Amino acid sequence: MIFSKKKITTAYTLEKCTKCQTLTKRKFNVSDILFAEAPNCSSCDGLTRIEKIFGETVEL
Ligand SMILES: [Zn+2]
Repeated sequence: MIFSKKKITTAYTLEKCTKCQTLTKRKFNVSDILFAEAPNCSSCDGLTRIEKIFGETVEL
């Protein structure tokens, strides 16, 4: 019997509010550009920027 593992990599975008430093992690969108402006912060309505784009690998 062959035991195989499957890996799936999902890309995420981390947005950071420049005012209250709140970090928001969401799924990566193809239009996302590093350090680009993101929609306003949900808690303080401050300016939010894309801080990081990264991938997470999950073994199934
Ligand atoms: Zn904020």
